[in-house]
Amino acid sequence: MIPALPAAPAVALTTTVRIMLPAGKSRAFHCPARRVPPRRIVSLALLLGLLCTTADFLAQETAPQRYTFALPRMGTLFQIELYAGSKVEATRAATGAFERIEELEQVFSDYREDSELNCLAREGSTAPRPVSAELFYLLDKSLLFSRLSGGAFDVTIGPVIAVWRKAGRYGRRPGAAELAKARAAVGYQNIELDPKTRTVFLKRSDMKLDMGAMAKGYAADQALELLKSQGIRSALVDAGRNLAVGAPPPGKPGWKIVIDSPDTSEANPPCSLVLHDVGVATSGNARRFVQVEGQRYSHIVNPADGAALRGSAGTTVIARDGTTADALATALAVLPVAGGLRVLESVEGAAAYLVRQEGGEWRYYSSLRFPRACRELRKWGN
Ligand code: AMP
Ligand code: MG
Repeated sequence: MIPALPAAPAVALTTTVRIMLPAGKSRAFHCPARRVPPRRIVSLALLLGLLCTTADFLAQETAPQRYTFALPRMGTLFQIELYAGSKVEATRAATGAFERIEELEQVFSDYREDSELNCLAREGSTAPRPVSAELFYLLDKSLLFSRLSGGAFDVTIGPVIAVWRKAGRYGRRPGAAELAKARAAVGYQNIELDPKTRTVFLKRSDMKLDMGAMAKGYAADQALELLKSQGIRSALVDAGRNLAVGAPPPGKPGWKIVIDSPDTSEANPPCSLVLHDVGVATSGNARRFVQVEGQRYSHIVNPADGAALRGSAGTTVIARDGTTADALATALAVLPVAGGLRVLESVEGAAAYLVRQEGGEWRYYSSLRFPRACRELRKWGN
């Protein structure tokens, strides 16, 4: 699903923003009990501010105008589209939202060695570790989705993901022994949370946590909240096709959201919906995959056997917030269609749209609550 965003003029500027860690911050550290202060976004506000001309400062705009901003973070491009009374107001709010995303990256990144998540994975098996409220909250949520999906969604999948990333780098399929060893370290049941002390204990020392399947949806939600706190309600945050959709643009019923599909045949043009105040996420292997021995493997793996998903598929979930949509889209990408839809129907306010290639043919499936506008366009497989 691709939000209908015309090319954002701010992209060229914002994508050049360089981040500087405070000196000495990158290596020596211990697990922080509280949220790590945000890294300095060098001149982010300044750069975004440069978009405002003097005329903008002087202009007394009355009707809200549309503004777009973008910044690469968490391995994807965050795009913000919002309506504000002036460019100054828009820029201030977008800067705040990007700073919030930056903060969250420092907590949840599995790429940054000094993220709170990686720190917990290293130190959380020696004794229960106090963590930030934010990390505790999302780990707790992740366990909920793990239980709900019977383990199809699992944030302890890290060791298996590492094996597949290595396979992608060297272009060689992982060996059975290597995969079995990695799988042995996977299991959400090995995470123990104590809400009284806000501590986390990892039962195995070889665990590696990976929030990649829900942190972007959460960051989109949080960025939208930040914009709201600045008085901007008509906004949409897109974190690599994990959307947090706010109030409709002025005078419109909602935001036009194009539902992405791996089926690019002319007979099945992409379907679009008009939505507001929801989360929307699409999981699939159209863009993120590794090529190994001539085969394409998805970045999503099945925790049951450690296998990376194969074949073309698209899974879109609409839910009450971006976090829920993000987690469910990944879970449903792993689960068989019928089982996935059963899980989906048990979540209040959630709806799903699945595109699967079966026997060389595209099949479409949807949950009962998925908007009819899209359902009627398709020959459904269910
Ligand atoms: P998404 O694009 O939201 O579906 O998330 C995919 C990312 O989540 C991958 O790049 C992995 O980092 C991680 N991941 C892969 N498989 C799983 C899984 N079964 N459960 C939880 N996280 C996963
Ligand atoms: Mg996801």
